[in-house]
Amino acid sequence: MSKRDYYEVLGVSKQAGEDELKKAYRRLAMKFHPDRNPGDAAAEEKFKEASEAYEVLTDAQRRAVYDKYGHEGLQRGGGADFGGGGGFADIFGDVFADIFGGGRSGGPRRGADLRYMMELSLEQAVFGTAESIRIPSWDDCGDCHGHGTADGKKPGACPTCGGAGQVRVQQGFFVLQQTCPQCRGRGTLVTDPCRTCRGAGKTRREKTLEVKIPAGVDTGDRIRLSGEGEPGERGAPAGDLYVQINVKPHEVFDRDGNDLHCTVPISIVTAALGGALEVPTLEGRVSIDVPEGTQSGRQFRLRGRGVRSVRSAQSGDLYCNVIVETPVRLSKAQKDLLRQFGDTLDVEGSQHHPEASSWLGKAKRFFDDLTGAS
Ligand SMILES: [Zn+2]
Ligand SMILES: [Zn+2]
Repeated sequence: MSKRDYYEVLGVSKQAGEDELKKAYRRLAMKFHPDRNPGDAAAEEKFKEASEAYEVLTDAQRRAVYDKYGHEGLQRGGGADFGGGGGFADIFGDVFADIFGGGRSGGPRRGADLRYMMELSLEQAVFGTAESIRIPSWDDCGDCHGHGTADGKKPGACPTCGGAGQVRVQQGFFVLQQTCPQCRGRGTLVTDPCRTCRGAGKTRREKTLEVKIPAGVDTGDRIRLSGEGEPGERGAPAGDLYVQINVKPHEVFDRDGNDLHCTVPISIVTAALGGALEVPTLEGRVSIDVPEGTQSGRQFRLRGRGVRSVRSAQSGDLYCNVIVETPVRLSKAQKDLLRQFGDTLDVEGSQHHPEASSWLGKAKRFFDDLTGAS
């Protein structure tokens, strides 16, 4: 199966900046979120595809590799692979090692960065939360004292480079300095690896980490926990842990940046006569005055009832769209009342239904034109 271009997946240009990527990703993540498309494998695939594209394109290093070498370049680097065969659980609640921290020649390697995909409810994202997550941690292997050797002693110098970590390669007239392919720059070589850690010198455990999520975060936001990634080699600094936020769709509210939207059905009686209407907000309920003669689709704006921004102290607004619900399953008596009521209406005139009468006028002109033309 050939992979789609990451820019194409997100529908952005090759020059797209962070904001544009985030916007595009949020839109797709909302649309294809598995909660919104239960049992729809195609949607889940699209969701994963978008997550992966966003992951790579918002990481400057991996994006540069992708721009230059495409998907193959990323695969060769052995970076986190979202695609492969696994289920949804592979992405969420799982930690990925990002191998791109390494590869530089000379000096001990900095630890790789880790990524954690965190799913939050809208309420958690809006009000902030503290979540305990399980992440890998590493200890020096007890059997080899961290040396990775079967006898537990320090490993000997690499025979290829003599411990320098670099080799000189003759290419035509040039002599190139390259990272030693045998020890990969370490300068030492474990010839008889420790059985417990297979020569790595570290054993992987798990630890629980409490992550504070600030109020107002949204899908695509990332929280960096410095030094919580993989340990570095021989005293080099550890990598970082990135917690990437994904906000689940909400039953009542749709989020658009810091604004919230909701749809509230009202009866034809309330729509015609007006009245108080209880609408939900994130903090509870408020009552709004529906004026007499309210039409379906009318929007009420509740200032400051949206989401408090994570960056500024400003709050977005809540938009309530009312739709007028036609009553169903009426009794005979109710139908009779409606008929009586209908007889009192002057449908052709513009008295009670200005929209309908103006539409009828337009439709009439349209038919007249049509018959006149033929
Ligand atoms: Zn070597
Ligand atoms: Zn060991």
